[in-house]
Amino acid sequence: MSGAGSPGGAGTPGAAAGASLSIHGLVKRFDDLPVLDGLDLEVPPQGVTAVLGPSGCGKTTLLRILAGLVPADAGRIEGAQPDQVTILFQEPRLLPWETVRANVEFVLPPEWEPGERAAAVEAVLADVQMAEFAGYYPAELSGGMAQRVALARAFVYPGELLLLDEPFQGLDLSLRLSLIGVFERLLASRPRTSLFVTHSVREALLVGEEIALLSARPARILENSGNDLPRGERRLDSEAFLRRERDLYRAISAV
Ligand code: ADP
Ligand code: MG
Repeated sequence: MSGAGSPGGAGTPGAAAGASLSIHGLVKRFDDLPVLDGLDLEVPPQGVTAVLGPSGCGKTTLLRILAGLVPADAGRIEGAQPDQVTILFQEPRLLPWETVRANVEFVLPPEWEPGERAAAVEAVLADVQMAEFAGYYPAELSGGMAQRVALARAFVYPGELLLLDEPFQGLDLSLRLSLIGVFERLLASRPRTSLFVTHSVREALLVGEEIALLSARPARILENSGNDLPRGERRLDSEAFLRRERDLYRAISAV
């Protein structure tokens, strides 16, 4: 999880070199329940790979293994080191007794100087339009505001790999679209490799440069291909988007 890192450069374009990630033959069981069944996935450096799979297929388990939170039973992971990995969860997971500012600052490495810490926190809070709420406590925030803070915390530190576990799931459509916009802007200024897990075809098409389709549990990759929708067509009112959405639904329903 986000920990050590070299000071300086947070927020500087190109500061974080995104790691590539290679997953080979990952296997995981919980007692008698097979969850991952020899999963292979190549994640290119930088950019966003969307991992699209049905509820309960093993997506969170995959991310927890990649973050070093649970061990795999078999398989190999090459690329990002656990101390270069950040996770953004479905719920914001802010510390209720700390302010917005302190919630973002606490992930910075201890060796960063106070002035540098303050500057990095203020800059990222401005980027998520939360600067004026820096002194608020989590209980005073709406769900969308809290998830903006969680995004700021995920990006303030220049980690190589960001794992997103259905981060906008509980929010209504307009909030989700606005948070996807915030995520993309943060990614442009603070590039890193991102694995964006979702069960929403729409969300995968909106955020993913690559889209990996997972099977039902035990999960394996059914298909992994580039998102051929041009950036400008990644809008819910685009004909090309609707066609691609329909094709992906068909691909999922056919298995
Ligand atoms: P997803 O995130 O795709 O919805 P999960 O990875 O959370 O799926 O869970 C996959 C399966 O593994 C589910 O059937 C879930 O009940 C089971 N599972 C997840 N974590 C544990 C655990 N710690 N112990 C036992 N079973 C678990
Ligand atoms: Mg999950």
